[in-house]
Amino acid sequence: MGNLDGRVALVTGGSRGIGRAIAIELAGQGAKVAVNYNASEDAAAAVVAEITEAGGEAVAIAGDISVSEAAAGLVKQTVERLGGLDILVNNAGITRDGLLMRMSEEDWDVVHATNLRGAFLVTKAAMRPLLRSRHGRVINITSVVGVMGNPGQANYAAAKAGLIGFTRAVAREVASRGITVNAIAPGFIHTDITAAMTDAQTGAVMGQIPLGRIAEPEEVAPLAAFLASDGASYITGQCIHVDGGMVMA
Ligand code: NAP
Repeated sequence: MGNLDGRVALVTGGSRGIGRAIAIELAGQGAKVAVNYNASEDAAAAVVAEITEAGGEAVAIAGDISVSEAAAGLVKQTVERLGGLDILVNNAGITRDGLLMRMSEEDWDVVHATNLRGAFLVTKAAMRPLLRSRHGRVINITSVVGVMGNPGQANYAAAKAGLIGFTRAVAREVASRGITVNAIAPGFIHTDITAAMTDAQTGAVMGQIPLGRIAEPEEVAPLAAFLASDGASYITGQCIHVDGGMVMA
């Protein structure tokens, strides 16, 4: 028996990194999980295999969340294959770093298309099944960068700050229907995104982390599972940091 028995979750970008850890954590607590991916079919299949081998239920669903038909199709397939939708985790995200003066419009647009527009499209498509659920939960994965900024990430910081505003607006909009909407702001977590950082960038970041280390994706996932559970029924519109103390407010 788990906290999330009988619930259905959709995790965008569940094939790798933080999304992978969240998908496995939610499944471990009893949820049936749709593992969305864009390109990494094998990685998504491996997540599904890990969940099913542990006795859980999961399906992999391809779809680029920045494309409205794909976002809607992703929600539709989740409902058809798993029987509904109770928990949406908007996790998929990308970076295209560069100093503002050299940042191309394409790098600005593509980061917003996935990190912000994608969350909007999937959440909009998910509203009907979430309204039918008696336990509707939306969990948006933003970043400390959306709160404190970071040189070289104007596009990403703006999109992640936008996601926090989106979280609060939608939280107010759907509260009367019993759906909670919260954000998680991770600090620096070991994934393919942070693996691309140079030693100099990692060194600079380390000095800003009171706990003095980069975290593992498995240290973010338990908060997502808690926010999805009945224990978090009175928490909405919040942005909760999992950042080793980088932001204290
Ligand atoms: P990651 O390891 O690079 O994984 C990104 C995931 O997003 C992959 O599953 C990828 O799918 C998926 N994705 C990317 N574009 C997509 C699209 N258009 N449609 C559907 N799926 C798409 O990244 P991560 O570090 O785990 O990051 C996950 C989230 O946490 C992101 O929103 C990121 O901004 C946020 N975050 C990360 C950190 C960190 O330190 N790592 C810190 C703060 C916030 P494919 O495998 O198919 O490419």
